[in-house]
Amino acid sequence: MRKIIHIDCDCYYAALEVRDFPELRGFPVAVGGQGPRGVLSTCNYEARAFGVRSAMPTARARAMCPGLIIQPSRFDVYRSVSRQMRAIFARYTDQIEPLSLDEAYLDVSDSTAFAGSATRLAEHLRHEIKQELGITVSAGVAPNKYLAKIASDWHKPDGLCVITPDKVAEFVQALPVERLFGVGQKTAERMHQLGFRTCGDLQQASLMTLIDGFGRFGPRLYQLARGEDERPVRTERFAKSLSVEHTYPTDLSDETTCLQQLPTLFEELQRRLAKRTQTGAIERVFVKMRFRSFQQTTVERALPVTEASFTTLMTEAWSRRGEPVRLLGLGVRFAEQASNQQLALFEGLTGGGVNAVHQSPVEFDEAVTEQ
Ligand SMILES: [Mg+2]
Repeated sequence: MRKIIHIDCDCYYAALEVRDFPELRGFPVAVGGQGPRGVLSTCNYEARAFGVRSAMPTARARAMCPGLIIQPSRFDVYRSVSRQMRAIFARYTDQIEPLSLDEAYLDVSDSTAFAGSATRLAEHLRHEIKQELGITVSAGVAPNKYLAKIASDWHKPDGLCVITPDKVAEFVQALPVERLFGVGQKTAERMHQLGFRTCGDLQQASLMTLIDGFGRFGPRLYQLARGEDERPVRTERFAKSLSVEHTYPTDLSDETTCLQQLPTLFEELQRRLAKRTQTGAIERVFVKMRFRSFQQTTVERALPVTEASFTTLMTEAWSRRGEPVRLLGLGVRFAEQASNQQLALFEGLTGGGVNAVHQSPVEFDEAVTEQ
């Protein structure tokens, strides 16, 4: 039986703002864009009391909470504290899988600290982070990643929730389907219509029923409903590239229209780059274009990460076919890291890509937020 801890900082960026500017303490604070089209990346609990949320347009948040203090983001600080936090984890385990700057899974199955008690280790980590870094984190302890992540959210903020193996069945029985990863609002509504409100309800359904109702997600749902999740904690999370892309509701008819989309895409790419957990240097930049005919092209160069570089690449990509465009993407490729070189060599020999090391592009109309 494995022991997994999921650590999640409480409103991380906002917490660091309050830590570094103590005069903000007690006031509603958010971090994000201040301009007319700005969006918040996170806010503290004082702001949440007014209904302010992550990914909310700044203007709307200001209307809900006139006293809201909006701090510009300081990703250099967020990244450096994230590294310090990882160093604290590394005192107890090398099985660390960072999910973002403020979240990580630890597999402590083999840890001998605290006589092998994952609960006491989690409490200790929370204590050390608070003492040394001045922020609070919530932790979940469970036999797998899926339950550990739900648990860390259970007693947020500054909380700990432990789901021991003998409590798994009872815990999932009452777990609302909305809490499952991969169940958005639409899927949840569909589940309710079919009479599934909790994982206990889902357990009554056969595998075939779930496949009929939810397609490819069916088998996964069957496992989740039973509290099962075999995914290992992956310590090597080397992305080879990072990109943002957008599929347009109506095709972009000409080069000018494509170039008009560039600033928004570029801004989103910069936001994603600022938050990256990947540490390798950026080697190349690229533009991806998919045309009406579904033909696709990518133009890639060793250029700096600037809007001008992407303008050059986009112009070239357009000229290759000169037909209306359905999808535009901007991205960067990272240099291989030392411990990744074996894999790179292997890839070179087989000529194939290894999906596991790719960070898939993020559709940027899915809000990228931090809780
Ligand atoms: Mg968080």
